[in-house]
Amino acid sequence: MALENIRVVLVEPAHPGNIGAAARAMKTMGLTQLILVRAVHFPSAEADQRASGAEDLLEKAQSLESLREAISDCRLVMGCSARARSFRHTLLNAREGAQQLIEESQNGESVALVFGPERSGLANADLDLCTHQVQIPTDPSFSSLNLGAAVQLLAYEIFLASRPDAPELKAVPNSATRPALQIEMDHFYAHLERVLEERGFLEGELREVTLTKLRRLFTRARPHSGELKLLHSILKLIVPGDGH
Ligand code: SAH
Repeated sequence: MALENIRVVLVEPAHPGNIGAAARAMKTMGLTQLILVRAVHFPSAEADQRASGAEDLLEKAQSLESLREAISDCRLVMGCSARARSFRHTLLNAREGAQQLIEESQNGESVALVFGPERSGLANADLDLCTHQVQIPTDPSFSSLNLGAAVQLLAYEIFLASRPDAPELKAVPNSATRPALQIEMDHFYAHLERVLEERGFLEGELREVTLTKLRRLFTRARPHSGELKLLHSILKLIVPGDGH
């Protein structure tokens, strides 16, 4: 079942009530995997109360210290944010995002849906770890939903997309052409950064922007493992002896 492979990741949720609300929202739509990254108060009686019947999801929720850890075995990572950030991700709306999550989770692939903290939303650094950005369409003058409400909306779209009467689903690519895991992408970015550093390409104030643009380019391309191997070999030609 596709739904079992979809994990919901809440990054730094501040209010335990929202964690409970998210669990309840998920359970109504058949989602079961909740991961909390640096939750401010958890476990908590308030979260249990707001879960009202979905406490089992809270009991088996994983608590982790970093988003990177939560998604390292995923190829597809959707970051939910109301705000479009410059030159970062191709934007998908909630429906398109849900459709793609279902398509790629059908083959047993783990995929992730990531939500940010209530006050500040997802930090740019965390959004950079995602492969796509999802926006829930809203009135442009007031675009920020409550965290629990945002989880409910996405969970609902995912549930609809998972039903057999949903529009025909696209074929999933075979294993040779599947996008690389996020951990493989991380190794590649680290190697690329070391090589550019070594050759003096990253000096000056545009350093971070340059790295972000390059990450964005490769994220959009979604290279598979074989292609990453090729890129590593090219980097090794530029700076020999860097055993990444
Ligand atoms: N004040 C924050 C919003 C935080 S709401 C901001 O301006 O970004 C908490 C989380 O709910 C967000 O991090 C995001 O993951 C999700 N969310 C809220 N509204 C959303 C929307 N319109 N589209 C996508 N995600 C949304």
